[in-house]
Amino acid sequence: MGESGCGKSTLLYAIAQLLNPPAWIAEGTVRFRGQDMVALGDEELRHWRWRECSVVMQSAMNALNPVLTVGAQLRDALQAHESLTSQKIQERSAEVMRLVGIDAVHLRSFPHQLSGGMRQRAMIAMALLFTPELVIMDEPTSALDVVAQRSLMLQIKDLQRRLGFAVLFVTHDMSLVSHFSDRLAVMYAGQVMELGLTRKVFDAPRHPYTVGLMQSFPSIAGERQELTGIPGSPPDLLKPPAGCRFHPRCPHVMTHCRTEEPAVVDVEGDLVRCHLYPDGQQSTVPLLSSVRPR
Ligand code: SF4
Repeated sequence: MGESGCGKSTLLYAIAQLLNPPAWIAEGTVRFRGQDMVALGDEELRHWRWRECSVVMQSAMNALNPVLTVGAQLRDALQAHESLTSQKIQERSAEVMRLVGIDAVHLRSFPHQLSGGMRQRAMIAMALLFTPELVIMDEPTSALDVVAQRSLMLQIKDLQRRLGFAVLFVTHDMSLVSHFSDRLAVMYAGQVMELGLTRKVFDAPRHPYTVGLMQSFPSIAGERQELTGIPGSPPDLLKPPAGCRFHPRCPHVMTHCRTEEPAVVDVEGDLVRCHLYPDGQQSTVPLLSSVRPR
């Protein structure tokens, strides 16, 4: 989760090994079932993608080919990874379409003949062709209205329970995160600032940026509270601020925050990148009450 331009999608594409030049992975590892994906060659990656990890792109209208029927696109994906008879292709395509709640008759439809929700479902059907263990989704519901959003997310949850795959998704929609995720990573200016169980992060955010985010959207339960937002705007990533990248906007900034980049530390099982937690010690600063615009 994070604001637009903070690097969420770039991180997803790095994990899926789908970054296009001039982007490249400068350092780090991507571990999947004990194996480092960054070290894999093209052929091994080809095998890994789709069978074990598939990707659902942000806008189905842009990701689907407008001049091919949905059925033809499913067939292409199946044939690229397995040699199957036409009948098997037809059966598997109809099966995944039914899985996502679309009548198999729409295998003959072109993308523009489907609603936004159906197109997104068709993308998910394509991602499930080989029942992978991990499905990566880039803002899966951003093009949908709230009702279609909820129904799609409920369906993804249901499929996940039935088929047992994991979902890694990015969004800037806090309510989606709070309802549909188990673990949450908060990103700011290209870095993960906090990572932990969603419920814990929502109930007691540790990073000042996460606290600011929580105070930027209204809650329908509890007392009425003034929305404060986060003063300032995100930095230019070509020239990120020295020290902590959040320091120009942080209400708790200390002298060394301006020069020393904080390390990621483990605070009671959650990861936080902030000098308020030296060596993973609890912070003594009362975060929630003191985050207010200056
Ligand atoms: Fe704020 Fe300093 Fe923590 Fe950065 S390291 S979030 S500036 S307190």
